[in-house]
Amino acid sequence: MTSPCATVTGAARGIGFAIARRLTRDGWRIVIADCETDRGRRAAEQLDQARFVPTDVTDETAVEALFRDLGQSEGGLDLLVNNAAIADPSNGPIESLSPAAWHQRLNTNLTSAYLCTHFAVPLLRAREGGIVNIASTRALQSEPDCEAYAAAKGGLIALTHALAVSLGPAIRVNAVSPGWIDTSASPTDANPQSEALTASDHAQHPVGRVGGVDDVAAAVAWLASADSSFMSGENLVLDGGMRRRMIYTD
Ligand code: NDP
Repeated sequence: MTSPCATVTGAARGIGFAIARRLTRDGWRIVIADCETDRGRRAAEQLDQARFVPTDVTDETAVEALFRDLGQSEGGLDLLVNNAAIADPSNGPIESLSPAAWHQRLNTNLTSAYLCTHFAVPLLRAREGGIVNIASTRALQSEPDCEAYAAAKGGLIALTHALAVSLGPAIRVNAVSPGWIDTSASPTDANPQSEALTASDHAQHPVGRVGGVDDVAAAVAWLASADSSFMSGENLVLDGGMRRRMIYTD
């Protein structure tokens, strides 16, 4: 029996790479779709049963070509992970956020998930596959000046439950909302360097630590497995308990 096939967008580094690495360890074949060519190649070289297809997920032609390639070369698709994003949430003050910058963030962080899903669904339906969207706790709570990121991630959670209802029972669709995840020192960076996290960075989390990329990868692996077969349309929050902490200053 051939191994199941997943495509993970934005998997050239960070959380996406960790998801791809975990899935390959679980026996999946992976297609890494990312716009960063050098890192994308390095990522595929570091994994068994992985290959890289350079893809800008905001480009309709490129996304269509990606899924045509998946149908022809891999014979189908069992899992789509919509992970690619402009991951820096800050857009500066709303009065200086240009329409062009707004559209760029919404296109990259939300419309890309629609686009990939649009082209992936015929392949996923044939295999009764699944979709996992990587959202953020910033869909649910905010710091100042993060409107475009928050709106895109909130939209992604709404897209998740809408798709779950439209595409079930053949296709399950879920989201994971990470909180603070340390993505420094990605093994695909030419010069990986860890961010210096302080004791209070860790201690403010009810679980006592900042999250790691493998925490998110484990959640995605579970959502991709039959063990989660009764879950669809959900948003799995993975933030070390931070969303449950009430924060008022004296
Ligand atoms: P990174 O920036 O480390 O990785 C994102 C990857 O996506 C990069 O390789 C990036 O390429 C790529 N990418 C960006 N735009 C496009 C595009 N148009 N087409 C294809 N690939 C693209 O992000 P993280 O690993 O930190 O985040 C991964 C996901 O997790 C994102 O959806 C993010 O919003 C979410 N998240 C992250 C959190 C965190 O604390 N890190 C917390 C909550 C959610 P390039 O480097 O060239 O831009």
